[in-house]
Amino acid sequence: MDSGGIQAGTKPDGRNVARSLAREPLPIIALPGVGPRLAERLRRLGIHNAEDVLLHLPLRYQDRSRITPIGQLIPGVEAQIEAEIIGGEVTMRSRRFLVCRLRDTTGTLVLRFFHFSPTQQQLLCQPGVRLRCFGEVRQGYASLEMVHPECRRLDSDTPSVAARLTPVYPSTAGLQQFTLRTLAEQALAQLDAEALLPELLPHALRMQLRLPSITEATRLLHQPPSDTPLAELDNGRHPARRRLAFEELLAHQLSLRRLRERTQRQAAPPRAGDGELGQRFLEQLPFTLTSAQQRAWEEIAADLCQPHPMLRLLQGDVGSGKTVVAAMAALRAVAVGAQAALMAPTELLAEQHYHNFRGWLSKLGVEVAWLTGRLAGRMRRALLERLAAGHIPIVVGTHALFQETVDFADLALVIVDEQHRFGVHQRLALREKGRQGGRCPHQLIMTATPIPRTLAMSAYADLDTSVIDELPPGRRPVKTAAVPDSRRAEVIDRIRQACRQGRQAYWVCPLIEESETLECQAAAVTAEQLTTTLPELRIGLVHGRLSPTDKEAVMAAFKAGTVDLLVATTVIEVGVDVPNASLMIVENAERLGLAQLHQLRGRVGRGNTASSCVLLYKPPLSQIAHARLAALRECGDGFEIARRDLELRGPGEVLGTRQTGEQSLRVADLLRDQDLLTTARHAADRLLHEAPDCVEPLIRRWIGAGARYGEV
Ligand code: ADP
Ligand code: MG
Repeated sequence: MDSGGIQAGTKPDGRNVARSLAREPLPIIALPGVGPRLAERLRRLGIHNAEDVLLHLPLRYQDRSRITPIGQLIPGVEAQIEAEIIGGEVTMRSRRFLVCRLRDTTGTLVLRFFHFSPTQQQLLCQPGVRLRCFGEVRQGYASLEMVHPECRRLDSDTPSVAARLTPVYPSTAGLQQFTLRTLAEQALAQLDAEALLPELLPHALRMQLRLPSITEATRLLHQPPSDTPLAELDNGRHPARRRLAFEELLAHQLSLRRLRERTQRQAAPPRAGDGELGQRFLEQLPFTLTSAQQRAWEEIAADLCQPHPMLRLLQGDVGSGKTVVAAMAALRAVAVGAQAALMAPTELLAEQHYHNFRGWLSKLGVEVAWLTGRLAGRMRRALLERLAAGHIPIVVGTHALFQETVDFADLALVIVDEQHRFGVHQRLALREKGRQGGRCPHQLIMTATPIPRTLAMSAYADLDTSVIDELPPGRRPVKTAAVPDSRRAEVIDRIRQACRQGRQAYWVCPLIEESETLECQAAAVTAEQLTTTLPELRIGLVHGRLSPTDKEAVMAAFKAGTVDLLVATTVIEVGVDVPNASLMIVENAERLGLAQLHQLRGRVGRGNTASSCVLLYKPPLSQIAHARLAALRECGDGFEIARRDLELRGPGEVLGTRQTGEQSLRVADLLRDQDLLTTARHAADRLLHEAPDCVEPLIRRWIGAGARYGEV
């Protein structure tokens, strides 16, 4: 066993970790039988070297270690049987298929094949031949059946049943289970000889957490002895699996923590503005901050006094009032003569922020500029010059703010709104872009998609978090209904009623295909139809293809109340704020994700009337779509919704990493392994101080040399 102390663990064969790690990983091509074509397929599974083979764990297992008597077969369960052929024949009904009847001392069973070779046909139609079959049992018309089982003829030289459970690996097109199994065997054979997976966890930590060694764990997971509890393996609770999940979570924590420590070593100019400007700002607001806003602001204000850059995530449900808090932060920068930049993911949202900020701040004599892609020529040059000279204290814009050569005289704060749209990578890249002259600005990230605690701890371990967990007073919950689109006429009638009472409404047409153009077309067609059905209403249309001037004009009209019904694409998903709008219709709601629907719904319920949201769907609903709509009907709390979203979709999508193509976790599952996350966090702390040698190898093993999180 290991003799490693709290320094790096040593390998069972006594070789030194540092030495084996100094070597390049064993390339996949080095395994027998792996050529360029197979290597390419393996690459698609994220397998680049022999270690990756070992970390590519089975999805599930098959038990071929025992023979089940036919009389004990259970429909829906995979089993292995041994029985004698009673008879077989090829039948032509609606389709040609082969039926073979088997018998053992406890009962009879039918095998059914829709594809078969002449050799198989010959074998399966020979009464008296004994077969061993493996497959899933199902209830047939007259008896139990197996469809397309694996079969082999039983004779004197048939090997006895498997001594181990058979792994079933996640695979990709053109890659057989057999190939993956053979690869795993080969990699396991090299485990000791090539020192493939050195133990990286300190001995003491492993003992404390009762974790098996990495070699024990991998061997067991690839080749479990037949008495290993299958249920524990399948549900991920087996100690061997937990050991690897733990190590992976630990590696992620370490990677993010390292990023964080690097940030904290960077310098930010200490800025202890006196807050006088902020005080005046608060006084001219038509409301007072909620206590949650107040608390978040105090946390931010404290950060801004630190000599290292703030990195804070400001979470709050839709409409919780994050923007005001962001404005307070910006004013702190302005108060000491520095600059602040606010970046939003869409022009529409940037525009909203610009108007909000200008409305609030012009009274204080603080200039707010708006920088978009469409600002060109002399105007643009003039703006850029004034920014570079430090004459403009606050600028709002899209990511164009950072993609282009925009110079700031003294950028002290970067605010990023609706962060989930940017992805972890982009967030880190931004941090770089904002750096000037060796100093890094403070960064405040606002997200309206509340991130469940577990996720916040893993993906955002490098951030501090403030939560606004309270809505401004007077908000009423939005009544939500899911309605099949056969009842469209009723819904249109509701719009008529609401608008007659002076309210306003949204009608959102989400993505029909993966195409923005089509989405815009759909919205245009719907707007036309609604104009015909509701001639008494003033109907506006806004979508991404509209020229910015037109877009702005429509939004302004809606805000001013001269448009009753706004037909829109999902461009209005974030940030749009029209308190008089009290009805939200979402078409094709079954196609949208939970978080997105919650965002859309958040556009209403902002004023003092009761609001409602109608989710129009096209039946039949898939199970998952049904669950989503039910979740929305049942809860209005963004955190609860995010939690359900996580359950329904998995962490990758919730974090938006699907879109950005970032690889998610390989072994760990943030839902299943939640409890390990806390342990991994504490362990990361300890390791960073007590066993720093392990850190780099752990990150390299699980996250890769390419440092997926980008070098900062
Ligand atoms: P979000 O968190 O979704 O960005 P906003 O900052 O856009 O929320 O705020 C939503 C609306 O609530 C805005 O009209 C804003 O002026 C208003 N608001 C913010 N804070 C308060 C408050 N404490 N009391 C009343 N209204 C508020
Ligand atoms: Mg907002």
